[in-house]
This record gives sequence, structure tokens and C-alpha cells, in this order.
Amino acid sequence: MKVPLLDLKPQYRALKRDIDAAIEAVSESQHFILGPAVRRLEADVAAYCGVKHGIGVSSGTDALLVALMVLDIGAGDEVITTPYTFFATGGTIARTGAQPLFCDIDAASFNLSVAAVERLIDERCEQRGERLVNRATGRTVKALMPVHLYGQVADMDPLIAIARKHGLRVIEDAAQAIGAADAQGRRACSFGDIGCLSFFPTKNLGAFGDAGMCVTNDAALAERLDIFRVHGGKPKYYHAFIGGNFRLDELQAAVLNVKLPHLDDWTAGRQKNAAYYDAAFAKLALGDAVVMPPAIPGARHIYNQYVIRVRDRDALRAHLVARDVGTEIYYPVPLHLQQCFAYLRHTAGDFPQSERAAAETLALPIFPELETAQLQHVVDSIAAFYR
Ligand SMILES: *Cc1c(COP(=O)(O)O)cnc(C)c1O
Repeated sequence: MKVPLLDLKPQYRALKRDIDAAIEAVSESQHFILGPAVRRLEADVAAYCGVKHGIGVSSGTDALLVALMVLDIGAGDEVITTPYTFFATGGTIARTGAQPLFCDIDAASFNLSVAAVERLIDERCEQRGERLVNRATGRTVKALMPVHLYGQVADMDPLIAIARKHGLRVIEDAAQAIGAADAQGRRACSFGDIGCLSFFPTKNLGAFGDAGMCVTNDAALAERLDIFRVHGGKPKYYHAFIGGNFRLDELQAAVLNVKLPHLDDWTAGRQKNAAYYDAAFAKLALGDAVVMPPAIPGARHIYNQYVIRVRDRDALRAHLVARDVGTEIYYPVPLHLQQCFAYLRHTAGDFPQSERAAAETLALPIFPELETAQLQHVVDSIAAFYR
């Protein structure tokens, strides 16, 4: 039996007629840039997230980049974020000329640790008038960029309180978390100043290529995002700002408009598969050899990934390859230890929970169309390894 980490073909097969028709409609219209499909998707995704405005952009990475740009974050600034994330989180901060100010994760949730953020600010920063300053660098700490990793919302209430207290802007990296919610039903992207979504094909709502969106409740920020995604020109060819080409393609929006009404069903499928794994691993009682991903009670985890902590991770992974079970390591090297960030002068041991997660975690197949026999094959294969 083969169990790929992700297979997008069954989803396409189920929607082929509608998707092909939507693509054909764009082809017939020859309206490729910021047309009606983009407008519709922006309204629908914003509503889905419980936020007022949506601004379609070219990718999740560009969503983060343009969000930082419209908040005037750049040289001389720092942004607090997690080192245990996809590269784009830290990469976009650095690309603006700002520096990522890394802070360790919470071991259970894999999300930014509130206690670690508080300690960082208390011990290493000081308030100078309006500015929160990193004493070691003299730079201004301007924003907080929590990541809702794997599809579970970070601990936002205390993070927002910290941000308010110190005058920090909040950009949510919700690339893996569309529709995720906390225990009070508040959705990812609805907490901060700007929420950033990715529609990369492997995300829960995936385009036929690269696509993303910024969402915000702030009308002024929405307008700035709208201007910055077309090179900062408004009116056209008159530039008060330097933006970029960050536009979402009409073709991608047309595909996403077909898919969005199915997202809740797919999420339910992922949750069902996660519950299957949870029950099966609990029954196996493998002790601390396999630790299941803890879901926050009452919250809505959308399981972009189902990530377990395991003993002998790399050997287990090789064993699963031999049994045709696809897995992935998200992420093997935390950002503070990446070569490109050597200038930040971090060393191993700086963020122990992030380093431990990078060494111990493994993502299992979780996509909604998996069959029970396939899930059981994954479980059996893991059980066989530890016996
Ligand atoms: C996927 C992802 C991004 C980037 O999205 P792209 O659409 O691939 O550019 C950013 N942050 C996180 C956490 C992601 O998972």
C-alpha cells in the first residue's frame, strides 16, 4: 500500500468540471489582472476569516512582505518572531532591512511562547518614549509576527496584550491556518493588524500555483496594501510609495473561488483523520516514543499538518520510506541556525525548544481524501518500528 504525504489529484477530480469551467471563463474574458474573480475571493476569504478587508497577493511570502512594508518596517527595526517556522517568516523580515528578533516556542503547541516573549522584552529591551528598544542592538522593536503553525492558533490574547503595552504592530503568519480558531471561535487573521494567508498548493486552500492574501480590519491599511501591491502607484504611474508587483492572478482566484465553499468539508476530513491517528496511537501506548500533537481544547485546529514527536526520528522516517509512507520534516533547521542568518550571531542552544522540535518532529499524511486503510497502514508501520 502507498500512502503519499499529500495527493491533490482526488480533490481536483471531484471538482474538475467546475474548476475547468472557471478557468475557461477567465480565458474567454482575457481579463487576467485584478478582475471580478479576485474581488469575489477577497470578499469571501475576508468574511471567512471574520475580517473586513481582503487584498489578494501573489503568494503567502509576498503577503508577509507587503504587510511589513505598509507598516513601515525596515532598516533600524526588529520584529519578534519564532525561529521554528517556514523560512518566509524570517526571510521577509530581513528583506525589508529589519532584523528578526527570535524568541523560542512553547514545547506543546510549537507556537511562539508567551513567557519567552515576555522574558525577551523584560530582560533585553527598554522603553524609550514611544519606542521599544533592543538594548544590545539599539534597534526599535516594531512588531510581533506570531505564526499559527500546522493549523493551530497561537496564544493570541496575551500576545496582543504585550503588543498593546509596548506599541507593537501584529502581523499574523496564518499561511497554514485559514479557518483555524481559538476556543472562543475567533479565527486566525482576526487578532492582529494584518493577517497573511498562503494559497500555495499544499495549504488547506490551495491554488494551481502561487497565491496569497492579506486581510485586515483597518480600512487605511487595506488601502495601503491595495496601493503597495501595484508598485505603490495611485493614481497609476504616480508613486507616493515604493511597492512591488504583488498581485494575485485572476486565474488563481477563479480556481480558489471554486474551492473555498468546500474548505470546511476538507477541514472536517483532516480533523477526522487526526482523530483516527490520536485514537490509534493512544491505543498502541508507545509511551514517549510517539507523542501526538496536542490540540487546544475547544479550539479549531485545521491540521494543515499532523506532526508527531518521535524517538529516533530519522530512522523511523527511513523505515516509513521503505513502507511507502510519505512523511516530511517541518522544519529540520530552525531559522536562527540558518547560514543566511549567521550575522545575528546565534548558536545552538539559544532556542532549545525550537531545536528540539526540529530534531524530533515528523509530519504524517493527513489530507482529507485518505482512506481508513491508508491511515491504519501508517499506524501499523510506526508500531512495527518500535516493536
Ligand atoms: C507556506 C508558508 C509561507 C509562505 O507561503 P508561500 O505562499 O509559499 O509564499 C509563510 N509562512 C508559513 C508558516 C508557511 O507555511
